[in-house]
Amino acid sequence: MSTPDWYITGLPHVWLPYSQMKTAPAPLAARSTRGSLIELEDGRVLTDGVAAWWTACHGYNHPHIRACAAEQLMRMPHVMFGGMVHEPALKLASRLAALLPGDLDHVFYTDSGSVAVEVAIKMAVQYRINRGEAGRVKLLSFRGGYHGDTLATMAVCDPEEGMHHLFAGVMPSQYVVGLPVDEASTAAFEAFLAEHAATITAIIVEPLIQGAGGMIFHSPGVLRTLRRLADKYGVLLILDEIFTGFGRTGTMFACDQAGIVPDIITLSKALTGGTVALAATVARRHIYEAFLSDDPEHALMHGPTFMANPFACACANASLDLFATEPRLEQVAAVEAALRDQLEPCRTLPGVRDVRVMGATGVVELDRIASPEALRARFTEEGVWIRPFRNIVYLTPAFTITADELSRLTGAIRRVLSGS
Ligand SMILES: *Cc1c(COP(=O)(O)O)cnc(C)c1O
Repeated sequence: MSTPDWYITGLPHVWLPYSQMKTAPAPLAARSTRGSLIELEDGRVLTDGVAAWWTACHGYNHPHIRACAAEQLMRMPHVMFGGMVHEPALKLASRLAALLPGDLDHVFYTDSGSVAVEVAIKMAVQYRINRGEAGRVKLLSFRGGYHGDTLATMAVCDPEEGMHHLFAGVMPSQYVVGLPVDEASTAAFEAFLAEHAATITAIIVEPLIQGAGGMIFHSPGVLRTLRRLADKYGVLLILDEIFTGFGRTGTMFACDQAGIVPDIITLSKALTGGTVALAATVARRHIYEAFLSDDPEHALMHGPTFMANPFACACANASLDLFATEPRLEQVAAVEAALRDQLEPCRTLPGVRDVRVMGATGVVELDRIASPEALRARFTEEGVWIRPFRNIVYLTPAFTITADELSRLTGAIRRVLSGS
């Protein structure tokens, strides 16, 4: 089948993500999607192990999301949120408030995960300014963490992954330390906090799974430690659930497993079931109340043009309908059990350092991957879409993936890693 014209004329004009454009292999041309399948322009059909960067939790083109999206598109695709509200945004806000633990009740909409984290950072800093707590402007984050690609969010990413050395002059400098995962690291963490708390407004962490930083897991106990020490030293706790939110770790939110309530939570990725960009920063009542004042400077001065886009909010509402009407979390448990069974044999393959599974996330960590791009091409030859990065081969499939499709993915990983 011949390469389409639009591919030949258009490709030289796009700049691809995380790519050295001089050497990047030609990207695949996608034509259509359904369920856990991606059809390419050349007619091949790939089984999807990534769910569109962890977003398409119900599979692609779910009929319920499609119907709600079409209805909203006909009625009102967009209207500004400055001075105006609408049913999809308000319904979604009250549903998120009801689903989230504690008094996480105040929803600020944005249009990407990075910007949701930017807003969380601005909230945490201005919270101190509004309360007259001068000098508490720093964020405390963790090695292995990932919170976005904008300058403020890069500063709270892992220093190496976040390329801090390249952007040192323009990026704010924050504290990045090790997670308190055992007695020694907890003691070190508390000592750091005790010394610097007067300059810190908030701790920010991805709960249970540090995703883009290397799919690194920690236990719910780590989150309880962070909550306890944040309270002890009067520091806020921000949970970035952009990856983990909406079932990915086995519960609706990762923080549910720890039984803790963060002061601010960020959501995006699976919020619209992978249909369209939308993000939310949700604050507890005491954060929100610190912005209530007669002083105009105490207001949160932020407002993305497309915030609370009605079409996106309608998709998010449809996605939440599906969590209520279809057995999503049971499906996550089934995916988890199958991933455990089927990835475990990889442990004995040459070059495999670790195999780990949490919820609908399966990880095979290797000593090293010489070329993630070449490995990706091998998976494509096997008829699966899997995108290794650094030394990690992972699966984050749709929760609705069939048993057959899932074993196609894990079978491809076993075959490719065993070199056959
Ligand atoms: C993907 C991700 C982000 C950034 O979201 P974008 O929509 O890509 O800006 C932030 N935090 C976490 C934990 C993520 O996984």
